[in-house]
Amino acid sequence: MSEPHLARKRFGQNFLSDPNIIRKIIEAIRPVEGDRMVEIGPGLGAMTEPLMDCLGHLHVVEIDRDLIARLKTAHPPERLTIHEGDALKFDFGSLVADGAPLRVVGNLPYNISTPILFHLAEFADRVKDMTFMLQKEVVMRMVGEPGTEEYGRLSVMLQYRFNMRRMFDVPPGAFRPAPKVMSSIVRMVPRPAAECTAADYALLGKIVTAAFGQRRKTLRNTLRDYLGEDDYTALGIDPGLRGEKLGVDEFVRIANHVTARGPLA
Ligand code: SAM
Repeated sequence: MSEPHLARKRFGQNFLSDPNIIRKIIEAIRPVEGDRMVEIGPGLGAMTEPLMDCLGHLHVVEIDRDLIARLKTAHPPERLTIHEGDALKFDFGSLVADGAPLRVVGNLPYNISTPILFHLAEFADRVKDMTFMLQKEVVMRMVGEPGTEEYGRLSVMLQYRFNMRRMFDVPPGAFRPAPKVMSSIVRMVPRPAAECTAADYALLGKIVTAAFGQRRKTLRNTLRDYLGEDDYTALGIDPGLRGEKLGVDEFVRIANHVTARGPLA
């Protein structure tokens, strides 16, 4: 019997311990034998083992060397391929070299939730779906709608790439140690490439960041580096609005207008 693992805060370690919740999450993922799947942060294996049982083989990305050593002892490489290191730097594209789309799952470390979502968005064209547990507050922002408090940069940039649905909430008591906040399960399915029509994705990101940088200010103020009065007329968008009122498609229209027009005179 190995020593108990001491949860490391710096790696956002809250381990799932409630068997009913674990079962519910696995049911939500619906793993099918032969699926190509990667789990981010397997930890002590709460989800890893049931996933392997359904799939036959699973990839995992884990940063904590102690946990990696445990996983290696417990599971043969035919069932579990362990990628040691930081998921933020991991090339998820390397797992889809032969074209089969990737399924990504994980009870994500909350301290890196936003950067990991942006990193994963880069691989959206090679992904079938992603199912994650995250802080409920983050999930609410991911699925937030225009005009609400939760709606912001995270909502727009992720909704541009993914259809997303909050599936159910998980209370702190389902984890050891218990986090201070509620968690939620979110499912993300990449939108078809034909729907992702921003000519310049980086520019879209800059415009969205500017629009939400000062939430209380109007577009006329926040987007002054990008749009003049004539542009608002051409776009049919009221410059007196705040960014939080614009839908994802309107941000894409603005970005494409700026690309087509070139730099402001
Ligand atoms: N999946 C396990 C569970 O549900 O019980 C553990 C979840 S725990 C919230 C997060 C896991 O991600 C831990 O195993 C932690 O070591 C790992 N982790 C943290 N930061 C990471 C990173 N940058 N790259 C890969 N794994 C990371």
